[in-house]
Amino acid sequence: MDFELIILGAGAAGMMAAVACGEERLAQNLPALRLAILEKNARPGIKVLVCGGGRCNLTNAGSQDFLIRQFGRNGRFLTPALRHFDNDALRAWFAARGVPTHEEHDGKIYPDSNQAKSVVDALAARMAELGVASFAGPGCAATAVRKLGAGEPDSPGFAVTLTDGRTLSTSLLLLTVGGQSYTRMGTTGDGYRFAQAMGHTIVTPRPAIVPLLCQQSWVAECQGVAVQDVEVRIEAPGPLPRLATGKPAPSINDLMFTHFGLSGPAVLNISEIVAELLERFDVITLRIDLLRHHTREQLAAEMRQWQSGCGRRLPRTMLASLIPQRLADVLCRLAGIGETQTCAVLTAAQMHHLIESLKSLRFTVYQTRGFKEAMVTAGGVSLAEVNPDTMESRVCPGLFIAGEVLDLTGPSGGYNLQLAFSTGRLAGVNIARSLATATHSA
Ligand SMILES: Cc1cc2nc3c(=O)[nH]c(=O)nc-3n(C[C@H](O)[C@H](O)[C@H](O)COP(=O)(O)OP(=O)(O)OC[C@H]3O[C@@H](n4cnc5c(N)ncnc54)[C@H](O)[C@@H]3O)c2cc1C
Repeated sequence: MDFELIILGAGAAGMMAAVACGEERLAQNLPALRLAILEKNARPGIKVLVCGGGRCNLTNAGSQDFLIRQFGRNGRFLTPALRHFDNDALRAWFAARGVPTHEEHDGKIYPDSNQAKSVVDALAARMAELGVASFAGPGCAATAVRKLGAGEPDSPGFAVTLTDGRTLSTSLLLLTVGGQSYTRMGTTGDGYRFAQAMGHTIVTPRPAIVPLLCQQSWVAECQGVAVQDVEVRIEAPGPLPRLATGKPAPSINDLMFTHFGLSGPAVLNISEIVAELLERFDVITLRIDLLRHHTREQLAAEMRQWQSGCGRRLPRTMLASLIPQRLADVLCRLAGIGETQTCAVLTAAQMHHLIESLKSLRFTVYQTRGFKEAMVTAGGVSLAEVNPDTMESRVCPGLFIAGEVLDLTGPSGGYNLQLAFSTGRLAGVNIARSLATATHSA
């Protein structure tokens, strides 16, 4: 047998699993495992480096219950992993490794260094201390994985075939190859193929935390414009169908216009639901309340005040005190307000149109930006087939699965890295324990 454990994929989950496995062996006064972590990128943790715009929003300060709720219907699966290694434990682990963290808006946790590199470096340094053999580069990409049949040399165990032609054998296998989003980072959905080959069911992967394309071509004029604290609602054609995600549809957060449509956390966090609905409907309507702290009546009163008190001024100038100027320009035009028309001659119909635009701006979404631009992948290895207490497969003993490859997806805000770290950690500890038990009973 070449290795006792092979970890496929040196991302957040894989690196944390390798570290946890090594630390558990140390705690039990056992020698280091013959453990290899294989990564198809040139270096481990490449995707973590781009997290949070390079600053790495590595977790969220919410309670365990709050974190679980962020994962919708599937969140309960995470209970044992979070109980074992929650956000406080994660922060304490990094602080002990010289990476203190701090909390920002919405409970987002970042390293004090504001550099994702310090997170990756801490994990890589700990792996090296613990004697983890790390192999990275295109030649180390796994192309096929199979369970060894009874009677084959090295059985029971697994055979992992690499791009460079080598086949490695291992007693236990941990799958942490991530999803299939942001494919340029090495995550191309290989894990689904590997898991399927070992008997697992895959819940259809779909892009999540992904920008949306809409039919309203005027959005291009607002490219780069951000509006804070908006409320986004989904209007499906007919009653909103029962969603696989089980997540609440209204989303309150910041909005960003792009040259093709909509982005920003308010939209990204419901994009998984939109992606699911777009599988059934050609288009989905989003209604956005740009000024959720103003009622229609308050806005009507304010506009009457523009008429009486600022009659010689332009509506677009007045509106810019409430929303960004470029958006104000577009909304005035859509309301049929002429470029030189003053507030004094605003018609009731124009005011009504403006108020409706501010309170219920309509967008017709026809597509997401797809896996290429999605930050995470929804769907994945069916949770019913994985033991949440150990992360071991229920259909293929000896196979462990952790991280984004599982059918678990949170919104933006540090939840997805916490999921990867917690499930990776739990898998690593349980692998170390199961190998220790096997050694003792041998
Ligand atoms: C731009 C961007 C920003 C993000 N920002 C945040 C953030 O701030 N906070 C947050 O919580 N989440 C963020 N995420 C999501 C987060 O990156 C993922 O949820 C997390 O990295 C998943 O961890 P993982 O270990 O399961 O998979 P990954 O980190 O994706 O690691 C999987 C690894 O497996 C490797 N691999 C794949 N196939 C093979 C193979 N066949 N052989 C060998 N190796 C293979 C990949 O190269 C990769 O390194 C962001 C994602 C993106 C794209």
